Amino acid sequence: MNLDQATPEQLQQWEAELANQYQSLQDQSLNLDLTRGKPSAEQLNLSDALDGILDGDYRAADGTDVRNYGGLDGIQEAKQFAADVLQVNTSEVLVGGNSSLTLMFQTVLFAHEFGLQGADSAWKTQGKVKFLCPVPGYDRHFTVCEQLGIDMVTVPMLSTGPDMDQVEAMIKADPQIVGMWCVPKYSNPTGVVYSDETVERIAQLANIANPYFRVFWDNAYAVHDLVENPPELANIMDACRKHNTEDSVLQFASTSKITHAGSGVCFMAASPANLAGFQQVLASCTIGPDKVNQLRHARLLPDMTALRAHMKKHAAIIQPRFNSVLENLSSAFDGTGLGTWETPVGGYFISFDTLPGCAQAVVKLAADAGVKLTPAGATFPYGKDPQDRNIRLAPTVPTVEEVDQAMKVFEVCVKLASVRSKLA
Ligand code: PLP
Repeated sequence: MNLDQATPEQLQQWEAELANQYQSLQDQSLNLDLTRGKPSAEQLNLSDALDGILDGDYRAADGTDVRNYGGLDGIQEAKQFAADVLQVNTSEVLVGGNSSLTLMFQTVLFAHEFGLQGADSAWKTQGKVKFLCPVPGYDRHFTVCEQLGIDMVTVPMLSTGPDMDQVEAMIKADPQIVGMWCVPKYSNPTGVVYSDETVERIAQLANIANPYFRVFWDNAYAVHDLVENPPELANIMDACRKHNTEDSVLQFASTSKITHAGSGVCFMAASPANLAGFQQVLASCTIGPDKVNQLRHARLLPDMTALRAHMKKHAAIIQPRFNSVLENLSSAFDGTGLGTWETPVGGYFISFDTLPGCAQAVVKLAADAGVKLTPAGATFPYGKDPQDRNIRLAPTVPTVEEVDQAMKVFEVCVKLASVRSKLA
């Protein structure tokens, strides 16, 4: 199917054939869902040993009774876990409650209202401020900015990470840019891992940016590999140390997609100066995090060997679902020019770019045939994809058979929407 060289008659004929196929899919009254970027019950079961694991022993390694108040930055063994995942020193880590999104929201809020390096550093003193948002990206990052009245400016994601030529040019030209969102490994939703060069360039942004510029390095999928010998993400903190820019990067992650998504442990890594600024405000919010849960996690996953073995079990569950999506995309669209996508080897998402102007139509067609897809536009600030192209596919929750069925529907919807857009 080559739409560019097709005659109007050919297009009409394809439209009729696809509409027929679509009708027979509709007749099946399917009820499938590729929207949910969360672990399946089978994955959650892998961590059920958390329940009762302390067995009455509430003492952390240093003797702390974790049931009591205190320990604003977390217990030592949870810090070690976080430091291992993010490959930083334990002195650069703070371990919090169950959600890294909460930590990110708090960090943006604190930096805006109070400053991470004293009142003069508060972004609000500078009037309107902006964040750079690589797109497509994670919708909840954008919601944080929207909620706090921070403007968003977009920059395209490439297969190496954000387009760094554009990032540097925009940051140089606009001192109102005080932040940038990054999901550096298996990015949500494109699945790419930032290249070494991208990491190196991001570590140097502070040299051309607003003095209180911060990169929000959300490494949510740091250990979520689906293959042996996965791609390695360069160490951003090491790069920052080399360029003397340690204060410019704040890293985040959690066990949400390692253990129980709703009751995991989150953490951040930052320079001592940033951590001190953050904790000073955090101390007004809480006397300390849920250390009982931190200890439960440390007992379940005492070291990187245990964590790697655990993540292999997740991979065994997720990989067939990813394979189904990728094989279906390849067999339906390779060489057709009807869409583009990356081939992630980890994370939770595959993202598909339709021809311009087709994403909303595809999502609507799929919904009407019983397949729920993430709303088109969700991967852009304010829910607006200017080219109406991007669709995020999240295959972890349905069974492999369901993913396969849903992808067959997706194929017909993409083809039908594409042909119709040419006829319009
Ligand atoms: N960051 C990214 C990139 C995500 O995709 C998600 C969840 O989908 C989160 C953060 C949420 O993390 P948490 O559960 O730790 O709040």
